[in-house]
Amino acid sequence: MNIFYYDIAVNVPLRKCFTYKSNTKIPVGTRVQVSFGTKKVLGIVIRKLKKINPQIKKNTIKDAIPIDEHKCFDKSTFDSVLWASEYYHHPIGEVFFSFIPTILRKDASKKITRIKTKINYSINEADKSFELNDEQKKAINNISKIKGFDPSLLYGVTGSGKTEVYLRLTENYIKKDKSVLILVPEINLTPQLINRFKNRFNGEIGVFHSNLTPKKRFETWLKSKFGVIKIVIGTRSSIMMPLDELGLIIVDEEHDQSYRQSEGFKFSARDMAIKRSQIENIPLILGSATPSLQTLKLVSEKKFKKFEILKRTDGKSPPKLIALDINNSELIEGIAEESMTAIEKTISKGEQALVFINRRGFAPLSECADCGWVASCKLCDSNLVFHKSKNRLICHKCESVFKVSKACPECNSSKIETHGLGTEKIEEVLKSKFVNIPIIRFDHDSTKRKGSLEEIYSQIHESRAAILVGTQMLTKGHDFPRVTMCVILNADNGLISPELNAIEKISQQLIQVSGRAGRNNNLAKVIIQTRYPDDLNLKKIKTGNYKLIADQCLENSKLKNFPPYSSICLLRCTSPNSNNCLNFLNRAHQILKSKNKLNAIGPLPSIPSKVKGNSRFHLVLQSSTKTYLNRVLKFLINEFENWPEAKKIKWSFDIDPYDMS
Ligand code: ADP
Ligand code: ZN
Ligand code: ZN
Repeated sequence: MNIFYYDIAVNVPLRKCFTYKSNTKIPVGTRVQVSFGTKKVLGIVIRKLKKINPQIKKNTIKDAIPIDEHKCFDKSTFDSVLWASEYYHHPIGEVFFSFIPTILRKDASKKITRIKTKINYSINEADKSFELNDEQKKAINNISKIKGFDPSLLYGVTGSGKTEVYLRLTENYIKKDKSVLILVPEINLTPQLINRFKNRFNGEIGVFHSNLTPKKRFETWLKSKFGVIKIVIGTRSSIMMPLDELGLIIVDEEHDQSYRQSEGFKFSARDMAIKRSQIENIPLILGSATPSLQTLKLVSEKKFKKFEILKRTDGKSPPKLIALDINNSELIEGIAEESMTAIEKTISKGEQALVFINRRGFAPLSECADCGWVASCKLCDSNLVFHKSKNRLICHKCESVFKVSKACPECNSSKIETHGLGTEKIEEVLKSKFVNIPIIRFDHDSTKRKGSLEEIYSQIHESRAAILVGTQMLTKGHDFPRVTMCVILNADNGLISPELNAIEKISQQLIQVSGRAGRNNNLAKVIIQTRYPDDLNLKKIKTGNYKLIADQCLENSKLKNFPPYSSICLLRCTSPNSNNCLNFLNRAHQILKSKNKLNAIGPLPSIPSKVKGNSRFHLVLQSSTKTYLNRVLKFLINEFENWPEAKKIKWSFDIDPYDMS
């Protein structure tokens, strides 16, 4: 009897596979059941072994029992996930299991069964109500000619008709019986995009994100796998959807930070989309009005194509950005008098104004006026934010909720004051000033309840004069046709931030906010309140020309050898005991001194330095070449296995981190 040996990945935090045997041939990418310690667990077949490790005694090798008739991962999704586990140096089992439906992760009785009914997609021609403009035609014609892997940036301002380009290209693939995967940053914020696809195609559009029930997600996954669904729109968790005959991947708003998963297995779905389209050998479209520096660099190196759509389809000019010097202004809870007047003017014309502040809640600081005590989270290094609507103090790091104390716990004084601004306070100020005008708050809290987002959208669309108050949620993907004026309250935080990519982030944010305004009005304006009116970056941002700022950021990064001109990994470490973190990171730093092509900085306290009772520190590892960095990371993993310091803490790598804190 033949015996076959396999490397199996199981869902444990270990960077290795385990050897099992079977007397049947099991294809790579299939689910199996294995004994692991005292338990029976599920695993994925990673490779068939020609030789087994001589250190393993053959008679101790246990059986792997295949579960499904069908593979969990076909060749290209398998190769892409394997690549991710290597690129991110994350435990292979955890990486593979994070890309299979929850229902298949633990339960061997749930099987992958073929779905037979096929839907024939057709195009709803009546939905095409206009002629394409020349820029759209050029992008569509050229991208349609692409064969194989060849990514394109579709660079266009909001409202320039990018979605129409996505629709037409998708149509081409549907006609060839191919499928299309469309990634969006946050599903809740893209109902318009989903509806556009539903209106254009007769046939099921799969929608996939982590807020759906496991059952629903499994169903969409199966339908994609067996070719029943040919179009899937989803968030970062859908990057490995097993679409049959995948022909095209689209990443909308490719610069958006929501594509990065920053907890557990830390990855970028945008980067995985590039890899997957390379492995599948298919075209990829990255769409954005404010592309990432990484993409712009690849365009300038001619590795990515670029198609621009510069004009809005409505022919309206982009809004005017105005920096309002508030050094000598009277502020009413953060809003300058001039801004207030502009809001007043806007609503008196029956139009809508938008006030942007990047903080939810009422006030970010509760302080005792007598002794200076500040309300902070017991588990995190983070001040509690007062939420007036709930009459509670909330930690924005761990979401713990605390009662508001009437007296100071330190000195018993009753003079507890709140300071600073959040969306709730701005809402309150505006409500007292504009009594008969709807003031609509748009943030994480006001949109959490199921259905609340839809209510808010319809309120915005049904109202004439109104004021919208919101966080960066407001800046994503949505049209507010009646908004003709925006006020931005705390842009200065971004302008003066020491973060590496602060200017890239703040300019993306400001340009995205201004993109919400003035769809129907030539005179739209955006007021940026600032104490630094002469700031050079602000002067560039004011032009509204993102390219100008991005080129400057790229030049700076090149000079300083920062990403995307070098590669960075954070070695993150947490422990209830901060000394354990420091001992571990200090030893790591020590051993890296001999690596002359790598720059190590730290240990540094992370921000926040404590979350849920765990202290957090990190080491910044920077190298000019990814290959070298990878080699060092592998070396470190081997080292850590034998370090007593490594047993006392939790460590992880954060590859290409979005921020450095
Ligand atoms: P984006 O995705 O860049 O924000 P959309 O594709 O949503 O832009 O287009 C904005 C609006 O303009 C939509 O209502 C769309 O139907 C319309 N539109 C798109 N292309 C054209 C065109 N060539 N002529 C007229 N209207 C268009
Ligand atoms: Zn006190
Ligand atoms: Zn907390």
